[in-house]
Amino acid sequence: MELRNLVEDEVFYLVEKILNEDESLCKCEKCKLDIAAIALNNLKPKYTVTEKGYVFSKTYRLKPQFNTDILTEIIKAAEIVRNNPRHKLGGWFEEYRINRYEWNRKNYNWEGTFPSIK
Ligand SMILES: [Zn+2]
Repeated sequence: MELRNLVEDEVFYLVEKILNEDESLCKCEKCKLDIAAIALNNLKPKYTVTEKGYVFSKTYRLKPQFNTDILTEIIKAAEIVRNNPRHKLGGWFEEYRINRYEWNRKNYNWEGTFPSIK
């Protein structure tokens, strides 16, 4: 048997989800873990005893009333990490994030307007 923090599983599940949905968030491992760490530090753990080799599944997902608090903390954490990323700066993503328009223009020769159909 082993001890599991259900909130931790839920946080990782929701962080993945949010990163997939919000393209302005960096998806590198460092930012992902930073978001999870900040959110988890602000949440009360919810421990349970599970069989060894437990796999996170729908059965173990928390009730929606817990999720609202968790989601709020993750969104706050994502905002902190977005503004203070600890990954190496200067990568293409950072450039893209700071000035998406300029990045598109440079890399795709895209001016932000669509050619009109004649
Ligand atoms: Zn990052």
